[in-house]
Amino acid sequence: MVIEGIAPTADRTLGFMVPARNARGMVVRLDATLNAILAAHPYPEPLIRLMAEALTLTALVGATMRQDDGQVTVQASAKGGVIDLLACDWRAGELRGYIKFDDQLPVMNGMSLPELFGKGYLAITVDQAASEERWQGIVPLEGHSLAAALEGWFSQSEQLPTLMRIGVAGSKADGWMAGGLIVQHLARAEIGGERLDAGEQHPDWKHVAALAGTMSAEELTDPALTPEALLWRLFHEEQVRIVPGPTPVKGCRCSAAHIRDVLMRFPEEERAGMRDDKGVIAVDCQFCSRVFPISA
Ligand SMILES: [Zn+2]
Repeated sequence: MVIEGIAPTADRTLGFMVPARNARGMVVRLDATLNAILAAHPYPEPLIRLMAEALTLTALVGATMRQDDGQVTVQASAKGGVIDLLACDWRAGELRGYIKFDDQLPVMNGMSLPELFGKGYLAITVDQAASEERWQGIVPLEGHSLAAALEGWFSQSEQLPTLMRIGVAGSKADGWMAGGLIVQHLARAEIGGERLDAGEQHPDWKHVAALAGTMSAEELTDPALTPEALLWRLFHEEQVRIVPGPTPVKGCRCSAAHIRDVLMRFPEEERAGMRDDKGVIAVDCQFCSRVFPISA
């Protein structure tokens, strides 16, 4: 299932449904977009991997939204660990994110979330602009990966059986690649007015989860495997409907006009304290590290 003209490594989102099993999901591949976002900050390798995981997770949730103009924000606030703040967001395929961390503290691959963040939580906010629907989930930062933390939250708090796999591969020299898969069982869907059995034990979900659970991090980041080929590997015995999603791109909404607006809301005395000796206030965007000199 190779689509002509689309490089296997390109940034992609691909939605899918397994109608007979009442399951839906999303595959995300981040390549050039990921490297462009990472290039704005000098992170140590373990934080590059964490940022890549967080961006993939944000894209998985973002691309699953029903409306294209909605926004997903993933933000971790923490105390007592290496990381003070992690923020990512997605809007109509535009992805951005950054980590604020203490570069004096040692950080290693394989650290657990409590080791990285100390005490904290992950807040996921979904704004569906058109319908003005908004919901927020608060996910404890426990265990070894953001994907596992979010998977547990969906299953327990939302009673939406969920499987999530994220892989990150690469190096500082060769660049980075990330791939992600989310599959959910729409157990609470009304079919013919009858509520289906909810829960992890539904035979359709157990079947789908057993198949999807075989997906490895190596496959998710294998440049030779397209998202279509990944789905074929998992579900070739099922009828799968695929729904092409938005292409993830690096996007930041910072602009001189926006920053000037924000500055104008400060009292003049405070603005005076921000000006340098040329009368300019230098404001930097933490997402993309661009500096805006504003004469306000
Ligand atoms: Zn920016």
